[in-house]
Amino acid sequence: MPLYDVIIIGAGPIGCRTAELIVKKGFKVLLIEEDKKIGRPLKCTGLVSWRIKDLVEDVPPEVFLNTIFTARFYSGESYIEIKSDKPMYVMDRQKFDEHIFKRAKENGAKFKLGTKFLDFKRIEEGVLVKTTKGNFATKILVGCDGAISTVAKRAGLKQPGNVLVGLQTTVKGLFERDVVEVLLDASPDFFGWVVPESIEKARIGIASKKNAFKHFKALLKRRVGKYYPPDVRGVIRYGLMKKTVADNLLVVGDAATQVKPFSGGGLVYGLMSAKIASIACIKALKFERFDEGFLKENYEKVWKEKLKWPIIKGMILRKLSEKIPTWMCRIVFNPLTKFIAENFDVDLL
Ligand SMILES: Cc1cc2nc3c(=O)[nH]c(=O)nc-3n(C[C@H](O)[C@H](O)[C@H](O)COP(=O)(O)OP(=O)(O)OC[C@H]3O[C@@H](n4cnc5c(N)ncnc54)[C@H](O)[C@@H]3O)c2cc1C
Repeated sequence: MPLYDVIIIGAGPIGCRTAELIVKKGFKVLLIEEDKKIGRPLKCTGLVSWRIKDLVEDVPPEVFLNTIFTARFYSGESYIEIKSDKPMYVMDRQKFDEHIFKRAKENGAKFKLGTKFLDFKRIEEGVLVKTTKGNFATKILVGCDGAISTVAKRAGLKQPGNVLVGLQTTVKGLFERDVVEVLLDASPDFFGWVVPESIEKARIGIASKKNAFKHFKALLKRRVGKYYPPDVRGVIRYGLMKKTVADNLLVVGDAATQVKPFSGGGLVYGLMSAKIASIACIKALKFERFDEGFLKENYEKVWKEKLKWPIIKGMILRKLSEKIPTWMCRIVFNPLTKFIAENFDVDLL
């Protein structure tokens, strides 16, 4: 049985990016993905900050469908509006995932699609990875298997219990091209959203801990007068995970809840962490140090230095937004609008 340097579970954007950065340094990387097609099924709105272009090189222009500078936060008919001088992009998420996949593949990463990770056990050389298509051996196992991570579960790394179900559909109509609508009262514990792809097409969705379908139907009725079945569905998990490493093992991306707790966005934090994870794996392979302590020092400590406070701030904002009505926000925020716009950073939401 060949011994890989790194096996990554999950060929989503975070798994593929981590693979690309490790394989470029000459190490043997295998990605194991349960789905047969990259980027499918869709489970994302594809709204990201300007930072995405710093985090992934050479993203083809056709990935970016729309550029937005305004976020409007609604409660009923009343709203507050924040205009930023930095853009947010609406992406074709499938094309984005395909781009990162292609980069990993062209640089030499091996893929096994349609193969489900089941379990692992420690062996002398590192880890034996059990899948539906046989066993594979590796020095390091990386879990990039999303919000319901089997790798985290099998390794005893507890994911936080804050779990939302997200539903979304793409609707034709007339929309303001430059405005993202955040409908704070559309969900009891999150929000609804309208993200325009163009003046005549928008992604309308909702996330909620309970009764997501009920809230989704009500939102569509309110916003476009008619129900459309969801074309995107997925789970958003948020919170600060205590432990993201074990001997020979780490988790990255949604699997490590590197997700913005207010907005549920995970691409920017996940891609930032993919870079840190790749550096830690390369170092571990060079020094042949695969113990939990080494991975904690070189991965967990480093990503938490960058993201622990943004995640904690996001958790506070999430709690506040569930408690404070928008009319109260108006009183507090309106006099500060200019200051907020100048200092607005969507990656803290
Ligand atoms: C409704 C919704 C809207 C969202 N909107 C946004 C947004 O606008 N902006 C943003 O930044 N983020 C958004 N997100 C979050 C974003 O989609 C995730 O943060 C991002 O996809 C994380 O990437 P990942 O690679 O960590 O995980 P994923 O993209 O979930 O990839 C994990 C991969 O692992 C595979 N896998 C899982 N289990 C196994 C197994 N046992 N064996 C083999 N393979 C396995 C899966 O098939 C999948 O391909 C949204 C999420 C939802 C649900």
